[in-house]
Amino acid sequence: MTKACCPGSFDPVTNGHLDVVERASRLFDEVVVAVLENLNKRALFSVEERMEMLREATAHLEGVKVSSFQGLVTEFCKQEGADVIVKGLRAVTDFDYEMQMAQMNKRMGVETAFLAAKPDYTYLSSSLMREVVALGGDIDGLVPPFVLARLKDKMP
Ligand code: ADP
Repeated sequence: MTKACCPGSFDPVTNGHLDVVERASRLFDEVVVAVLENLNKRALFSVEERMEMLREATAHLEGVKVSSFQGLVTEFCKQEGADVIVKGLRAVTDFDYEMQMAQMNKRMGVETAFLAAKPDYTYLSSSLMREVVALGGDIDGLVPPFVLARLKDKMP
């Protein structure tokens, strides 16, 4: 039985995140999508809201569950029995940071596997989605429709 952990902020989930989760679910028996509860970072959506959206977006995927964690992702992986962290790499800009994290997490006992982002989604980030919606731009097709509706609801 292999189990992967896909950690992130998911504020909110984008189609780029979902592509990585879907592909991980084909490679591993189980996937736990783990929302980081970062008390030092102000988020647009609460952890519960982010988990709700992830649950709705991954409901069709067998073996995928959604959870949250604080602190070290390696500790969370050990608690969950996840053997590997799976992350998407968008561009070289992700590389330095992700490489450092992967090496530190390996030192703490958990391997990381990287999936190359789908070319259509390499420019997607939650922050860009929030920014474009706040300015009235169109992000149709880049996040699930119910995520777009919730983003619009959050805007003043
Ligand atoms: P962001 O706010 O930049 O979207 P997150 O912390 O929510 O970042 O993302 C969690 C992980 O999901 C990232 O570390 C990255 O590995 C992956 N990821 C984010 N966006 C994409 C994307 N568009 N395509 C592939 N992987 C992505």
